Amino acid sequence: MTVNPDQLADSILNGKAATEADALALLAAPDEELLGLVHAGSRLRREHFGMTIKLNYLVNLKSGMCPESCTYCSQSLGSKAEILKYSWLSADEAMDQANMGIAGGASRVCLVASGRGPSRRDVSRVGEIVERLKDENPEVEVCACLGILKEGQAEKLKEAGADAYNHNINTAESFHDNIVKTHTYEDRTNTVEHAKAAGLSPCSGLIVGLGESDEQIVEALFALKALGSESIPINFLVPFDGTPLEGQWNLTPVQCMKIVATARFVCPDREIRLAGGREIHLKSLQPMALQLANSIFLGDYLTAEGQAAADDLAMIRDNGFTILGQEAGEGGDARTDDSAGGCGGEAGCCSDSQTTAEAATHTEPVIRRRGAGTAEVANA
Ligand code: SF4
Repeated sequence: MTVNPDQLADSILNGKAATEADALALLAAPDEELLGLVHAGSRLRREHFGMTIKLNYLVNLKSGMCPESCTYCSQSLGSKAEILKYSWLSADEAMDQANMGIAGGASRVCLVASGRGPSRRDVSRVGEIVERLKDENPEVEVCACLGILKEGQAEKLKEAGADAYNHNINTAESFHDNIVKTHTYEDRTNTVEHAKAAGLSPCSGLIVGLGESDEQIVEALFALKALGSESIPINFLVPFDGTPLEGQWNLTPVQCMKIVATARFVCPDREIRLAGGREIHLKSLQPMALQLANSIFLGDYLTAEGQAAADDLAMIRDNGFTILGQEAGEGGDARTDDSAGGCGGEAGCCSDSQTTAEAATHTEPVIRRRGAGTAEVANA
């Protein structure tokens, strides 16, 4: 089946949802039709999000040493990737990291910890950070990402002031057991449901490039829609050396664009976020992807370095977008120059370090060596 993306966008704008067959046809569209796909998808993006880009900032509170077996993850105990490994940041350290992201323009801070799921102590530890963040920055959203939640834990996070909870389904139910054996797809969807029931905004998304089929990408996108995920991060596999998926480069930049476009058509009114791996997979098509996605992570990821935060901000500005919360007349620190990083451009930071220059052009993953868990200034 073929699909006319403009007609499909018309019909979605008139209230008719895309079907699974439409989504499959979008993913299978010939490469030469990419611009038509982006043009049509951008109409849906602008209808719901105008020309804004939401900046999210990751703080990896606890890195590595996870007993789960997720094959794509550099933080699993089975991974030999030489990532930063550390136990919980103190509340002060976490606040310092978060504040650098906020100073860089982030309107959501994502507090993440490796592991199957939090203990009671972990939830109160993170709750304390959430409370402090919300006290000092009431306008900033806080999302927690701590793994599989047990009874009552989502409520505790909500009481502390958290706005959202992230737990990615990662892939289609029909492919899930190929990527992890230590927990089930249902464990993941149950946690998203717990978060929703507690009044937290559900954030759940995907990792693509794991070896899944187009049908499975469509299956996962419709599952996220049905689950009510309000923000959908699309991660592109970062195949770290030392992980079971080392060396798996299954995606092309054009295919990544088609996946982002399909997500927009299936979930036109949800936040679609370009997440981990965007630089190394979308490459020079990153700016074009902003016509479809309305959200990105600023700076670095959990265990990999991203491009310099100043380059993220320049990319947004150069393409005519505005940062959510910094629209004209809405207050906030509407930065317009390349000194925008939270580090203030100090020597060795994001704006001039050799590491960052490499990260900006790399096609191989660069392991994060700055920010949380290090003495180096964060890329924010
Ligand atoms: S549970 Fe999370 S931190 Fe642990 S291996 Fe899986 S993805 Fe990585």
